[in-house]
Amino acid sequence: MVRVTCLGAAESVTGSNYLVESSSGKKVLVDCGLFQGGKVMENRNWQDWGFHPEEIETLFLTHAHIDHSGRIPKLVKDGFHGQIITSPPTAELCQIMLLDSAHIQEMDAEWQTRKNQRQGKGEIPPLYTTEDAEASIKSLRPTERDQLIEPEPGIKARLRNAGHILGSSILELWVEENNDSIKIVFSGDLGKNNQLIVRDPHEVFDADYLFIESTYGNRLHRPFEDSKQELLEAINYSVSHGEKVIIPAFAVERTQEMLYILGEFYRQGLLPDIPVYLDSPLAIRATKIFRKNKKYYDEEAQAIVDQGFDPFNMPNLQFTESTEESIAINEKPGSAVIIAANGMCTAGRIKHHLKHNLWRPGASIVIVGFQAQGTTGRQIVDGAKQVKIFRENVSVKAKAFTIGGFSAHADQKDLLEWIGNFESKPRVFVVHGEATASETLAKRIKERFNLSVHVPRWKERLMLKPREVAYEEPREAERMPSLETAMLNTVIDLEKELKALKRRVKAKETQGRIEEDDVGRLKFVQEELQAILSK
Ligand SMILES: [Zn+2]
Repeated sequence: MVRVTCLGAAESVTGSNYLVESSSGKKVLVDCGLFQGGKVMENRNWQDWGFHPEEIETLFLTHAHIDHSGRIPKLVKDGFHGQIITSPPTAELCQIMLLDSAHIQEMDAEWQTRKNQRQGKGEIPPLYTTEDAEASIKSLRPTERDQLIEPEPGIKARLRNAGHILGSSILELWVEENNDSIKIVFSGDLGKNNQLIVRDPHEVFDADYLFIESTYGNRLHRPFEDSKQELLEAINYSVSHGEKVIIPAFAVERTQEMLYILGEFYRQGLLPDIPVYLDSPLAIRATKIFRKNKKYYDEEAQAIVDQGFDPFNMPNLQFTESTEESIAINEKPGSAVIIAANGMCTAGRIKHHLKHNLWRPGASIVIVGFQAQGTTGRQIVDGAKQVKIFRENVSVKAKAFTIGGFSAHADQKDLLEWIGNFESKPRVFVVHGEATASETLAKRIKERFNLSVHVPRWKERLMLKPREVAYEEPREAERMPSLETAMLNTVIDLEKELKALKRRVKAKETQGRIEEDDVGRLKFVQEELQAILSK
């Protein structure tokens, strides 16, 4: 029996962490993310792991987002000295993100300590330090996707493209169990089809058990093209008033998507001639990693490269790395687009830009990402007349544009479509979602596919057995099917085979597997089919 314990991202979206244990005592981890969003959640980062980090030899990391990777330095600090298997772009992104996260942890601890000392209390240590982050980076083992690996005896795995952010992966995991093997698939964060930059999520056809994310399990995204139009509208609105456009954006993926769209506007002659500032050191570093990793782009992004452009560039784009350069932006009058972190307006340089522009009629604040309750970003979305920034009340006179179509997550329709690829009827566990999102998705999966579905609670331990295959002697009537049944069965088989053929034709590695002769033979089958139909 394989045990899976949901130690994070169960009944919530942050802190992703699953412990997989085989009956022979092997333990591996899937993701090791930071809990985020309020005191109660953040306190979980300090709690016991629920296992001994030194016993873990392998950690599989689906992608670089901090809610999936942000507790790795703590794991290392607490005794983990195994390997971290992840895709090459994820490994690169993790290097900058874990160091950035360590810096934030150190600053937080310093601030808390100063506050404590004023009250006569003791020092607060950081959750982890820059040294811990550096040690974590040494454990990263970049592994290309689509290849079967055996990181330790009895454990096989394969990373597949999840289409969520650069390098994001689905994990296929095979755990050996007494001469048998159980296949578990972890979706990780799943992207939507036709997302910018990254390719569509890989279709998986079989699993005994499936762990599926449900961030938007109860929602449908607005059309992407409409969102692009809204962004252009916001820019034109502020340009016509000679004011600035402020875009709070997460440093990894959302920022690069914004640059990609602005680049597209530029090449189409739609972008007004104003400066575009990328004002976040982390986002600048992430953009450089995106620029480097061209081989992971989708066809559209590749086509832009083939035409001689950089998808994340335009002549007016300026990277403002230093604090002085950042301050100078607001001293220059006139229109500009400013992309800054963080995405929810709670910290970072974005706060300075809001302070300088929120009160200015004609300026615009473009909200392109999820805004959690209690954040400044959420207050702006909810139409607050005034918000507090650096202990100062700033009135909101700028126009807020809330654009909903830029999500990097599959919505309910995409998730169901992806699950529809499975031909093996897996048992499904719905994770990584707020309770209502997970429950709604679970209900839809049951209705649509008649699969057994469960929404695990935080810390719930699931017992996974090898799936039994039942054999049944065919009944008399089934041995000699009627002409209609035989015909129907053949049509169903044919449908399956055609689907498989379509997949093969569409696949990149088709060359050599299809010959000219094959097309002729298929045409012959088609003619025979038409003959049957025309009778
Ligand atoms: Zn993510």
